[in-house]
Amino acid sequence: MQLLAICGAVGLGGLIWRQSTDNSFIEACVFGMIAFCVFGVAAGLGEFKSAGASAVALAVEQRESGLNAAEQRFAADLALIVKLLQGHLTANAGYSESLDRANADLPQMRTPEEIRAVVLTLIDENRKVQVKMDELSRSLDESVSKIEKLRSNLADANDKAMRDPLTGLGNRRFFDDELDVALEDGAALCMLMCDLDRFKAINDKFGHAVGDMVLKQFAEILNTAGRRDDFAARIGGEEFAIVMPGVSPIEAARLAERIRRQLESKKWMLGSGVALGTVTASFGVARRRAGESASDLFKRADAALYRAKSEGRNRVVADLDA
Ligand code: GH3
Ligand code: MG
Ligand code: MG
Repeated sequence: MQLLAICGAVGLGGLIWRQSTDNSFIEACVFGMIAFCVFGVAAGLGEFKSAGASAVALAVEQRESGLNAAEQRFAADLALIVKLLQGHLTANAGYSESLDRANADLPQMRTPEEIRAVVLTLIDENRKVQVKMDELSRSLDESVSKIEKLRSNLADANDKAMRDPLTGLGNRRFFDDELDVALEDGAALCMLMCDLDRFKAINDKFGHAVGDMVLKQFAEILNTAGRRDDFAARIGGEEFAIVMPGVSPIEAARLAERIRRQLESKKWMLGSGVALGTVTASFGVARRRAGESASDLFKRADAALYRAKSEGRNRVVADLDA
């Protein structure tokens, strides 16, 4: 905005000084100053208009997308800002008109006093506009920090909705969403499902809190066992799944076997010094067939897990029929 104003001022001032032999250097500067104000306000109005338009668009978008309480508060704030913007647009339009009038009257003025009076009036009006602009700027700053807060609250809420609070792994919703994304591009992937063996007996013997501790530590093993592209989730009480994009069933079964052994060899000691004994899990692995849906793939991985259970538990069964 400043650049446009300065360029306009210098251009117009220079033109008037060169073309009119009657005008003194000081008068040319005065014309330049007025031009500065006119160009400045014109550029400012442009900025206000585009800011107002995008704020209105955002408010409408918020309203249409179905709002919760926090979003409604935000929409109310936004509506206030838009109102403020519109008020300032009107004030600036009035100021712009008085600048136009002064600009039109100036060629008839001959004495420096007349010119000085007009310039002083404009400077005074400009100061008033500046005060309003500062007020608007403060309101916008406040809104920006509110928007930042809201954005981070929404991100937190989203994260909570997708995460299992006990283990910190993704939950079933997260798993389904991520699986849909992974299946979309048709790339090869394997699904591994696992379920802790005789877990009910651990709860019954040592209590629910100990059961929770086992779930947490098993989740930690799953989370750290996979590669960067793999994603693990808790899909049920003591049931977990890992999706491994771009791996063969042999590699997926190898990973499952590694996890199985890590769990089986873990020494579980309770705070009281009592040993928990061996904890094991069963695993089912399936590779996605071409064009296969998420639910069909899920069913085959689950069937492989069921076989692992029925064949004696603490083992990996891979569905290699693909
Ligand atoms: P199987 O080898 O056939 O899988 O036997 P299981 O005992 O593991 O399976 P079952 O389905 O009989 O029992 C699962 C148990 O998991 C029962 C349920 O109370 C427990 N469970 C589910 N969610 C939680 C949880 O969040 N915390 C704890 N501590 N236990 C849970
Ligand atoms: Mg179980
Ligand atoms: Mg189960």
